[in-house]
Amino acid sequence: MTDRTPQLIACHECDLLQRDIQLNPGCYASCRRCGAVLYRNATDSVDRTLAYTLAACMVFLGANLFPIFAIEVQGDRSAITLFGAVLSLWDQGMRSVSTLVLITAILIPALELASLTYLLLPLKLGKVPPRYPLFMRTLQCIEPWGMVEVLMLGVLVSLVKLTNNFRVIPGMALWSFAVLTLLLAAAATAFNARDVWAQLDGKRRDLESK
Ligand SMILES: [Zn+2]
Repeated sequence: MTDRTPQLIACHECDLLQRDIQLNPGCYASCRRCGAVLYRNATDSVDRTLAYTLAACMVFLGANLFPIFAIEVQGDRSAITLFGAVLSLWDQGMRSVSTLVLITAILIPALELASLTYLLLPLKLGKVPPRYPLFMRTLQCIEPWGMVEVLMLGVLVSLVKLTNNFRVIPGMALWSFAVLTLLLAAAATAFNARDVWAQLDGKRRDLESK
């Protein structure tokens, strides 16, 4: 990576073209005209993102396999999982809400975690995952659509309302969702697309030149 020829980089705020230079770990480059941060040298971003992602994968399974909460009415207890809630909404005719919850709270986070693991685990082991540009772009497209934190807020509001009339028992998935919200935010913060692109491209060039 050190023999990389300098490239030009456009400032995302003012479009000024500047030379892309090597930075020391922990430093960042700012635009010479408007001062916007152009990029950082976050060399441990792969390790940190991978750690958060693997932890989030385990918590994600718990969040989907266990009940979110149970309601007790006259001694009868009924528990519901997130997927159960999606099916229930569908059956009650609220198909758009059901589809929205399925996509933003289950499918997108699952795809995001799978893509991150697919990209970062081989990279950590010194390999280059096939078709990585496709997965990098998918990741950047889907990221804004994962809304676990919105779901979490919705569940909390409905729980507070339900406690007026029923005995509500919080389930394992509720705690899992709370932790998942934090882990996904941590993974998104730690993930440095520029660093991951550079490492993947560098590794691919190394393997091709052997
Ligand atoms: Zn600028």
